[in-house]
Amino acid sequence: MSKFWSPFVNTLVPYVPGEQPKIARLIKLNTNENPYGPSPKALAAMQAQISDDLRLYPDPNCDLLKLAVADYYSVSPQYVFVGNGSDEVLAHAFHGLFQHGKPLLFPDISYSFYPVYCGLYGIEQQPVALDEHFQIRPEDYQQPNGGIIFPNPNAPTGCLLELDKIEQILQANPDSVVLVDEAYIDFGGESAISLVKKYDNLLVTQTLSKSRSLAGLRVGIAVGHPDLIEGLERIKNSFNSYPLDRAAIAGAAAAFADVEHFHSTRNKVIASREWLVEALTALDFEVLPSAANFVFARHSKRDAQQLSTQLREQGVLVRHFKQTRIDQFLRITIGTDEQNQTLVDVLKNCI
Ligand SMILES: *Cc1c(COP(=O)(O)O)cnc(C)c1O
Repeated sequence: MSKFWSPFVNTLVPYVPGEQPKIARLIKLNTNENPYGPSPKALAAMQAQISDDLRLYPDPNCDLLKLAVADYYSVSPQYVFVGNGSDEVLAHAFHGLFQHGKPLLFPDISYSFYPVYCGLYGIEQQPVALDEHFQIRPEDYQQPNGGIIFPNPNAPTGCLLELDKIEQILQANPDSVVLVDEAYIDFGGESAISLVKKYDNLLVTQTLSKSRSLAGLRVGIAVGHPDLIEGLERIKNSFNSYPLDRAAIAGAAAAFADVEHFHSTRNKVIASREWLVEALTALDFEVLPSAANFVFARHSKRDAQQLSTQLREQGVLVRHFKQTRIDQFLRITIGTDEQNQTLVDVLKNCI
């Protein structure tokens, strides 16, 4: 607390990111990063930007990247917004699309940044309980609201909602923006971007941090009706005209263009996930059906927090959330096959 703060700063409850340890050699399965490196073509494109040209501002509109995304998803560039990580894109959406004096609906178990942005932008929140299998029930999203947001696949559960159920939510809420946060969609689902021409109330966000292995670059995108995109542009241009630097624009565009690298690394992660689900099940874990690059699992007998502490002592980091309904689960990022094997070996010792 400080007398110099604007008073509302005292009310903020900031997001707490997963640990980024300074100790090397830890097996890091706690923040859903990709175990494989980014596209070599993306790296080359970024390196080419490290030149005298850095004295010049980047393109404020990021046209090169918007074109690459538009091309990839077969939409026109007016449907595309880009930002400094999808967290920033989400922040602009909360600021520009969700302040309607009515509560924002999102699942009770969901991305923990949503309540943080509600606090930052003074938006009332109405958590909607997942069912007993940790699934979203579309019929629960038929109540007065100033907007709806959920990750798909959901985080930290990994569970996927099918497109027809998303359409059900869109159709029941024609006067609200429905934001589908597709941070993990590439690991097992079909993107709702295929629906943006049909529903003017749909906004889809994605990140290059997970499936394109560029968490360190900070690039996120949104795709939706041009009116929604224009709202986001107005916020962005009232906040920071140049959120993406020259390397980020070039690297992200090249990453979208390198479909081959994307597919091969994504497929490896999916295959490793299936292996890990079987191995954990054999160790008496219940594993929720995952369409993401992580699994959410609870052991039949062992306490999750204790397990996570024991794992850390043996050099393996996973994520545990002290939240009702899920405090007996561990969220485990899919690593390389070698890392996954080590995790399973260490778990065998703990259990
Ligand atoms: C990782 C994640 C994000 C943030 O992605 P960045 O682009 O790295 O900011 C957004 N939503 C969900 C659900 C995530 O898991």
